[in-house]
Amino acid sequence: MELKPYSGKAKRGASGVGKTDAGTTAPGFVNQNRQKTVARTGFRSGSFAGQIIYKMRCGDCGAEYGANGCDIHARRCPGCQGGVAGETLREAAPGLFG
Ligand SMILES: [Zn+2]
Repeated sequence: MELKPYSGKAKRGASGVGKTDAGTTAPGFVNQNRQKTVARTGFRSGSFAGQIIYKMRCGDCGAEYGANGCDIHARRCPGCQGGVAGETLREAAPGLFG
């Protein structure tokens, strides 16, 4: 006989404390290393299952490269900040979004 419909695991909006994931994939986001999220390419990551590749641009040298969504918050420029090369950046096929 169970009278408890809920196991007591209530979501109260306390999640996310101390994390800075929210918003990193939104175009225009700039992380602590001045790396800017330009756009979502829609391509799947080749190194992280389930991740989508985002186009990033360095605020220092202007380099553009691909990054996994989960990496954006701490991304460093592969050109001038010693960051890893990251994902291959591919432009979306013409007409894909049109
Ligand atoms: Zn750079």
